[in-house]
Parts: sequence; structure tokens; C-alpha cells
Amino acid sequence: MKVVGHFINGETCTPKGRMQEVFNPATGEPEKLVLLASAQTVNETIVTAQNAFSEWRNTPVSKRARIMFNFKHLLEQHAEEIIALIGAEHGKISHDAAGELQRGIENVEFACGAPQLLKGEHTKNVGPGIDAWSEFQPLGVVTGITPFNFPAMVPLWMFPLAIVCGNTFILKPSERNPSCAIFLARLLKEAGLPDGVFNVINGDKEAVDALLNDERTKAVSFVGSTPVAESVYTQASARGKRCQALGGAKNHAIVMPDADLDNAANQLLGAAFGSSGERCMALSVVLAVGDDVADRLVDKLQTGMLGLKAGHCSDPANDFGPLITQQHKDKVAGYIASAASDGAHIVVDGREPEGLDEGFFLGATLIDNVTSDMASYQAEIFGPVLQVMRVESMQEAMRIVDEHEFGNGTCIFTRDGEAARYFSDHIEVGMVGINVPLPVPVAYHSFGGWKRSLFGDLHAYGPDGVRFYTRRKTITQRWPSSGVRDGVSFSFPS
Ligand code: NAD
Repeated sequence: MKVVGHFINGETCTPKGRMQEVFNPATGEPEKLVLLASAQTVNETIVTAQNAFSEWRNTPVSKRARIMFNFKHLLEQHAEEIIALIGAEHGKISHDAAGELQRGIENVEFACGAPQLLKGEHTKNVGPGIDAWSEFQPLGVVTGITPFNFPAMVPLWMFPLAIVCGNTFILKPSERNPSCAIFLARLLKEAGLPDGVFNVINGDKEAVDALLNDERTKAVSFVGSTPVAESVYTQASARGKRCQALGGAKNHAIVMPDADLDNAANQLLGAAFGSSGERCMALSVVLAVGDDVADRLVDKLQTGMLGLKAGHCSDPANDFGPLITQQHKDKVAGYIASAASDGAHIVVDGREPEGLDEGFFLGATLIDNVTSDMASYQAEIFGPVLQVMRVESMQEAMRIVDEHEFGNGTCIFTRDGEAARYFSDHIEVGMVGINVPLPVPVAYHSFGGWKRSLFGDLHAYGPDGVRFYTRRKTITQRWPSSGVRDGVSFSFPS
């Protein structure tokens, strides 16, 4: 079986060590093995990244940006191969994988603006003959730990920006789909990146712990489930590292009585079942305001679901693919069973999808009459399950959203501008859509949830990303000819 190794100092390598199977989720069969890095391999990688840092930080920013331009072109040229790799290890349908890659490329485009982004701030004559400026210096060796559900896009949220800011980078992708990151590393080398600036180590908790416990890694960008995000944040912060740890989600859509229900139903189907619901921005709960709206919406959703097709990634006629593992499929099915036993109404049951006996497939499930005390409501299910809650008012809907532990994304469907404005102003969620079901910010804004969907102060990518991957230094300067030798002063300079 093919072994997926690491990419260290410009080379792929497969040292001896622990391994784990990598499945094709559409067949349910293991097709590769992935190496799980030991603490020693992590240590060697940190040394490599540290050695590359001093030259890279002094490389002119325009040259760093030029390498990113090359990388963007290579990503576009090799898009089909990247999409196929995502399909083979994640199961994502080709049109969806193409969308993921495009959103990742937009982050590379943003990083190409590094000369402008890193210009700093300058003020002449802050005092007589005194000038001051702030510059944004790189941190050193920084790391990214990424989840399975976006094998290309989430790493691309991180390393292009970190690298153009002058840092060197170690990526630890998900061990469930490790090949995409290695492919990206090869393209970066081809784009002209010096060896050691970008490294990929595959692995599990052992590798993550080694990265977090080492004093030489200066910052950690983590994306994954909330329990792991919280512990990574705690561990990294205790070591004095900068950390942004993005966690899980439970995203609600409020459907108001004045909404265009046909449009809302179409948008909800895509946002709930696209990528099998394995998106941190998937809309998994609908709060329908009024029983009449709920009845009509459930009817439309049920009708729309008749046409949904789960299947293999290579057939673009399919709407979504399998779940990532058998274990995860069983967990999702367990939440559907628990909703039924808690008294909710399973309107469409996807637990036994027709003609999909192999692989980790579930069909789309619609559940009505869900209440906030049910386990299926409280948990992030991360599967093709849409739950409907019936509420009497927008205030009640907003209270439910605000009381949930997660605050990643939310949206409202309405024709009432005043209601939408009130909602976006007051809701306790980091990313808000108004008649937009998946409000994932574009690359030149920043991405991040509130509450237990993000641990840390700065959001991912965009302007917050630049701040995260640099530290400010402010220099105040005066030269002797402008009057340094003007005697002693003991008062605070003003
Ligand atoms: P996960 O938490 O299982 O794994 C994420 C990363 O952490 C992987 O690289 C994994 O190897 C590592 N990891 C796992 N367990 C660990 C442990 N005990 N100690 C140290 N490292 C560990 O997440 P996943 O299943 O790969 O991804 C799905 C989750 O990611 C969902 O909860 C989803 O909401 C979340 N997610 C969030 C965002 C966001 O932007 N907020 C984006 C994508 C995914």
C-alpha cells in the first residue's frame, strides 16, 4: 500500500514509525497508509524550519510575494489533481472540491498583497526632529493544525499568509486525508520557495503535543473540533505561544413569515446537505417563525430532498458524498435515533440510502419538532441532518441561537430590512448571513466564530491573519544633529 510520509526541508520522506490506514470513504476500503510522526521527527522539523527562518525573514517582501504569485498559477494548473486527491480521501464531489480550492486560492491572492499589507505605519516629527514608525515583524517558526473537512482550503487559510509575512511554517494536516498537503508542499517548492520554509508532518496527538510543547514554535493556528481546540489553546497559551483555535459549530437559520419560502428552502438544502453537512458553516437547524411557515417549509424541504443524490465524488451529478469514517457515520445515525426517541418527528430518514451499501454513506435526513433540550439539537452532528424547530417570534429564535454554546455562523431569511438589521446587530454569532446561507467571509475579510467556536483574540486569514502572523515593533528615532545633546531631562517626554 502507498505510504504518505512527510515533507521536510524540501523533500518528501518516510522514516520508519507508526502508521495508520487512510480510507477511501466512498468504498469504505483502506487505500493508503499515513505515517504518524514521532516527537523526534517533529523536533528535526522544527530545527529545519528554524534554520530557514533567518534568511527567509530577510528576503525582500516583494520576492516572497512573487513566489506566492507562482504558487497561485501552479494551484490553478494542477486544480484537477488537487480535486481528485480531495475526492479520493474525503469523498467530496468534484464541483464542491473545486469550490473549496477556489476559496483557498483567494487566500493565496490576498497573500500576494504582502508588500502592501506589511508596509507599516510612519509618522514624521512626533517631536522636534523625532520620527516614529511601526513595523510588523515575523514571529519565527509557526504551526498549523488542520481538520479533515477542508484538506486544501483550511491549510491555505494559514500558510500562504504566514509565509509571506516572513515566518517559516510547519503544517500538521488531518491524518484522515494527508495527501493534499504534501501535494501543496511540492507545488510551493516548484514555485520557488526555499527548502525548510514550508514543512508538512503527518501525525496525530503525539505530533501535535510535540509541536505545542516546544518553546521554539511561536504560534499555533488550529482548526478542528471544540474539545481539541480548547485543549490546544490552553496548552499553547501555557507555553506563551500565540494561538487561534477555531472549533465546532451549530449554525441556525431563522426563517421569517415574510421570507420567500421557495428560495429559503433551496438555500437551506444546499447549506445543510452540501459536503454531507461536514462543514463548520453547514446550516443544521432551521428556526421557523410560526407554525404556518414551519408546515410550508417542511413540505418544500421534503419535496426538494426527493431529488438529492449522494454518491461518488467523480460524478458531478451527485450532490454530496460519503461521511469521513464508519465511526462518524454511526455517530450521526445515533443522533437521528436519539432525536426520534426524544419525541422529534423524522420526516425524511437517510439512514439507509438506496444503492449505497458500500462506503460511509448516509442519505439526507429531515427532522421536525426538535426542541432545545434534545441531544441532537445540542451537539454538533456534522452530518447530512437538518433539524426544524418551531418558534413563535424572532425574539424567541434569537434567544435560542444566543443560548447555544457555539456561535460560528447564522443567517436570517426575510424581506424585512429592519428585522435583518436588528438581527445582525444583536445576535451573538461571529459570521452572519442575510438571505445568504453560508456567510463564509471572503479572503480579504477574516473568518471566525464567537463563544466556544473560537478560542483566541484574532480571527483567521485576511487582516486579522496579518496581525496574527506578525508582531508589531515601534521605533522612535532622533539623530544627534537634530539635538540629542540638549541636556538632561527627568520629566516624561511629551
Ligand atoms: P479534530 O478535532 O478531530 O481534528 C483536527 C486536528 O486536530 C487534526 O489535525 C487532528 O489530527 C488533531 N487532533 C485530533 N485529536 C487531537 C488531540 N486529542 N490532541 C491533539 N490533536 C488532535 O477535527 P476533525 O474531525 O478533523 O474536523 C471536524 C471539526 O472541525 C468539526 O468540529 C468542525 O466544526 C471543525 N471545523 C471548524 C472550522 C472553523 O473554522 N471553525 C473549520 C473546519 C472544521
